[in-house]
Amino acid sequence: MAQPGRNDLLQWREAKPSNYFATVLDLESVLELRMGRPLDLSTTEDFSSFGLRVATVIEPAVQILERNREFPKLRPYDELGVPIDEIEFHPANDVAARAAWASGMLATRLDFHGAFELATKFLLLSHVGEGGQACPIVCTIGMRRAIEHRASGAIKDLYLAGLTGTDASSALRGSQFLTEVQGGSDVGANVTRAVPDEVVAGAWRISGEKWFCSVADADLFAVTARPDGALPGTKGLACFVIPRSLDGVSPNGFRLRRLKDKLGTRALASAEIDFDNALAFPIGELDQGFNIAVSELLNTSRWLNAVGSVGIMCRSYLEASTFARHREAFGVVIATYPAVREQLALIKAETAAALASTMALTELVGRIDEGAASPKEIAVHRFLVNANKYVTSIAASDIVHRAIEILGGNGTIEDFSPLPRLYRDAVVFESWEGTHNVLCAQVQRDCIRLGLLSPVREWVLNELSMLSAPDSSGAQRVKTILESLQEHLTTSLMEPAPQSANFRRQLTTLMDVIQATCLLREADQASASDEKSAIAALFIERHLVPDTIVTPPVWTRHVDEVLGATFAL
Ligand SMILES: Cc1cc2nc3c(=O)[nH]c(=O)nc-3n(C[C@H](O)[C@H](O)[C@H](O)COP(=O)(O)OP(=O)(O)OC[C@H]3O[C@@H](n4cnc5c(N)ncnc54)[C@H](O)[C@@H]3O)c2cc1C
Repeated sequence: MAQPGRNDLLQWREAKPSNYFATVLDLESVLELRMGRPLDLSTTEDFSSFGLRVATVIEPAVQILERNREFPKLRPYDELGVPIDEIEFHPANDVAARAAWASGMLATRLDFHGAFELATKFLLLSHVGEGGQACPIVCTIGMRRAIEHRASGAIKDLYLAGLTGTDASSALRGSQFLTEVQGGSDVGANVTRAVPDEVVAGAWRISGEKWFCSVADADLFAVTARPDGALPGTKGLACFVIPRSLDGVSPNGFRLRRLKDKLGTRALASAEIDFDNALAFPIGELDQGFNIAVSELLNTSRWLNAVGSVGIMCRSYLEASTFARHREAFGVVIATYPAVREQLALIKAETAAALASTMALTELVGRIDEGAASPKEIAVHRFLVNANKYVTSIAASDIVHRAIEILGGNGTIEDFSPLPRLYRDAVVFESWEGTHNVLCAQVQRDCIRLGLLSPVREWVLNELSMLSAPDSSGAQRVKTILESLQEHLTTSLMEPAPQSANFRRQLTTLMDVIQATCLLREADQASASDEKSAIAALFIERHLVPDTIVTPPVWTRHVDEVLGATFAL
């Protein structure tokens, strides 16, 4: 006998879209605002065709991997006991990789248009979470940027064509290994060594242990290492590229100790790797290693981590909103309950806010890549690339969690929806490419050292000045919060150590200000949806509440009292 509840679920499944490009609220209008012109037809078709392939090819492939726990496996030796250190993947992984690489994402130009093309395609891809593809793509793009911007002509000739390929079976994959066991965030404590090679001029030999090595199957590893005799700390780090193999078969001076068994991003191979005299080539000048690692690798990853977090949020809204329209409880469709409606509206508004700040960041990335950015825009980029990663990664976990709640018990079931998978991935997105505290500390240092607050403030005020109604109540609220934040932030920057916890909360509010500003700009567009103004108003109402930014001076004392006088001493 047909069960009415199951029929509702079947209809829910039928109602799910088969093209994610069409489902991201106002995406074309947001792109139009940040790109300064409407999308042309061929770009729209390109995005739409990839949105279709993500939903119909990549998502089903990722589902197979997760449903059957078909995660990467380490094959340390071949059948004759010869070390090969290979990683084996399920064929569904290759299906997903082929579709992702064929999108041309890896081949986008490093210019203004290219930044948006990459961000949009990566946003669509991230509707499946990490899916075993997102991290390899980000690492490969980071490696390509490092080599294109910094490496010698010989290294460019060797690797650039492979790194920008569109055929997953022949393209080169990149990875980036900074983290060591003694404290991942503290890259300056790295002890991996580099010594000049005695045979190949200009080449080096790398030895040491890297503790978190994602895309362990990569063809090229970007690695930070300290040349013998170099300075301690980050100043003494150089950046190298290590080819996986020199003869196409055997590992180039490394052993994969093991693959990590992770909470999320499980389709991705993350290993612990020991390097022992691996042949390597420098990327850029030796004494520029840390700068290259941050500006080419980490900044790319942090930007795209935010784009990926937005993809996870968009998918969460999609799953929860379609479910709520089909599920009945107590005889009524749950989307009619005010408490459910409020949750859905907030998920939608916060997702839109994350998209808004991330596309504003993409505009800055594009202007820098185009060579057109002013010093002020470069400063705002430096602030936003870290602060935006921090808030969007937290928002992603929070939003998937709330979407799971809307699906009720079904939300916790692994194969009922992608939400459990997205939730696990989102938690990993929070920690890699910089944990929350570390990013906040970085922003705080940058604000002190480079005076970033002033260009950020000017940028916000300039965005608000471009509104057709710059004195609307929403814009006024944003300005009021911005002004009162100013005073608290100044205190935090004068006394950085005791105030760093306060700074983190103030930075969160400053990011709310930035996201609200971007939403107001988007709502002002002629091409914006009718809901956009309401989204901006709801976000401002819930996130920019004047009294919440007051910083009680006794806060630090209470924390110490709660933990006890001898805690960690
Ligand atoms: C699945 C996965 C894959 C990864 N892949 C890679 C990879 O491919 N390559 C790579 O290089 N790394 C990789 N990482 C490592 C990741 O970037 C690190 O986990 C991250 O940098 C944090 O380092 P840690 O884990 O050692 O934490 P720690 O540095 O030990 O930090 C622990 C805690 O202390 C806090 N903390 C640290 N310093 C400060 C401070 N100054 N002020 C306040 N709080 C602080 C942190 O916020 C955190 O909460 C991966 C991580 C994961 C989870």
